[in-house]
Amino acid sequence: MCGIVAYLGDKEAQPLLLEGLRRLEYRGYDSSGMAVLNGKGLEVVKKVGRIQQLERALSGQPLHGTLGICHTRWATHGKATEINAHPHTDASGKLAIVHNGVIENYGTLKKKLSDKGFQFRTETDTEVLAFLIGFYFDTLNSETENRLEMAVMEALREVTGTYGLVAIHEDQPGVMVGARRGSPLVLGIGPHEHFLASDVSAVAAHTQTVAHLRDFDVVTIDRNGYRLKSLSQNQAGLEISQIEYQSGVAEMGDFPHFMLKEIFEQPVSIQNAVRGRLNLEESTAQLGGLNLNPQELREIDRIVITACGTALHAGMVGEYIIESLAHVPVEIEYASEFRLRNSPMDRRTLVIAVSQSGETEDTLGALREARRKGHRVLGICNNVASTLARETDGGVYMYAGPEVSVAATKSFTSQTIIFVLLGLLLGRMRFLSASQGRGIIEAIEALPDQITQVLKQSSHIRDIAKKYSHSHSMLFFGRQMQYGIALEGALKMKEISYIHAEGHPTAELKHGIIALVDEKTPSVFLCPKDGAYDKNINNLQQIKARKGPVIAVATEGNEEIVQHADDVIFIPEAPEYTAPILSVVALQLFAYHMAVILGKDVDKPRNLAKSVTVP
Ligand code: GLU
Repeated sequence: MCGIVAYLGDKEAQPLLLEGLRRLEYRGYDSSGMAVLNGKGLEVVKKVGRIQQLERALSGQPLHGTLGICHTRWATHGKATEINAHPHTDASGKLAIVHNGVIENYGTLKKKLSDKGFQFRTETDTEVLAFLIGFYFDTLNSETENRLEMAVMEALREVTGTYGLVAIHEDQPGVMVGARRGSPLVLGIGPHEHFLASDVSAVAAHTQTVAHLRDFDVVTIDRNGYRLKSLSQNQAGLEISQIEYQSGVAEMGDFPHFMLKEIFEQPVSIQNAVRGRLNLEESTAQLGGLNLNPQELREIDRIVITACGTALHAGMVGEYIIESLAHVPVEIEYASEFRLRNSPMDRRTLVIAVSQSGETEDTLGALREARRKGHRVLGICNNVASTLARETDGGVYMYAGPEVSVAATKSFTSQTIIFVLLGLLLGRMRFLSASQGRGIIEAIEALPDQITQVLKQSSHIRDIAKKYSHSHSMLFFGRQMQYGIALEGALKMKEISYIHAEGHPTAELKHGIIALVDEKTPSVFLCPKDGAYDKNINNLQQIKARKGPVIAVATEGNEEIVQHADDVIFIPEAPEYTAPILSVVALQLFAYHMAVILGKDVDKPRNLAKSVTVP
């Protein structure tokens, strides 16, 4: 996901824009750029690579003016080159826009404009939109009061796709127009200034008064304030809220990377996810935000969890947890598939959409499809001001604090513990006795200390990573609730160390994957003491018989495992529904140390965005 920051006020725009852009840096991007109206005309500077490149260029050639827009781009259409970076200008060079999202019908629009004689300079979808807005602007009489606003609205009526965008024009120098459909845009309201940005972190240092634009909103800002219009019929006023500004939360402190900081935050983030949600008297969980009464909860006879990436893996663990604790059938669906597929669901199916940011485009698409069909949709997300939080019928917040590292860690464990809480709540309404409920609560309460035990092994895990740092490929195996952890461990390894890694259900080994086993391909084996332990050891032997190195993640006190595996990471003893939270912490550290040893950019891995707001 990329970022937008726009400013109109009485201060110099450039430093404010750059500062905002730095706060959005964690979202991932490949190039950046800025345009400022300086009283005489429009000036644009763009650079490929880190924001520092843009800063360097701007320090040599500062842009002066009190109205400006800037952008970090995560390329979808056209390579990550300077010319493809935003802001994009129209044919006249007087209009500039920044855009997040994808103009899906850009091909048709481009053809239409090319037929009129327009010549494009880039391969992007965004440039087509800039040209289209510019085209309408030029057809309007120069005396037209709301000329830029009208041109933006006219153009957007022809667009299919997603956008968060801001437009400015030399011929209307005191105005900026923002619009949203599918990609977030927040309006920051200050006494003599306004901001538009992709998320509140970019404006929070300057104003705490914000409003989240809704799909089809178009906001026009000038020196007198802002005005709201809508491209849909339903026009309601913006909901203005006050946010809390905590300057320290997104700092790294003593940690060398955000990822390591966030891994080490997990004893606390787990507590935050659980705080106030355990009912000791009744040995159950209380999740008021679900907005479902006990009868409604009792009536649920099927659950579909939908998510992408790491959140999908948490959902896979959640599937096993809820089925085992509550005996409610659960299915997990890739949000990108679910939104397009017509899967049959009956009236009593509950849909749960999971996304750390609450802005993942595919997950939002899935939740909208489910709601359109009349299903109740709950959300599990971290960002309380997100689109997902607003569009679901209820849900559970993670309260994990900002997750800055692109590779998700603490959000995974928070999502997983929320599934344990849900399993406990639904289970206590069905089959679980009070004493079973108490046992689950005790296991939940033990987790923060147990995670700390795993974290203490960080240097041991680093030594193991070093031993295998020459590997080109790795295999991760787990069964049942550990299967999702095998997938997540492999995903972490791919994301930040760029080592090819695959996760599989352990027993699939002999159905094909074993062909990949050799002396150079380590296998990470998730084999805590649980019902599948003996079976796992048999599979482990099959790898050893073919000279494959094995790193086992096993339960403390299991002495025999050292005879089977080349290296062992021990996790504290825990029931099968909380053990995944412990084993994943070990694999997060394994991937982290591997990436550091290989000299990779841990917090900003190549090609990745923190949350994927494009389809
Ligand atoms: N689709 C646009 C592009 O490729 C915007 C991508 C983004 O959201 O950064 O330039």
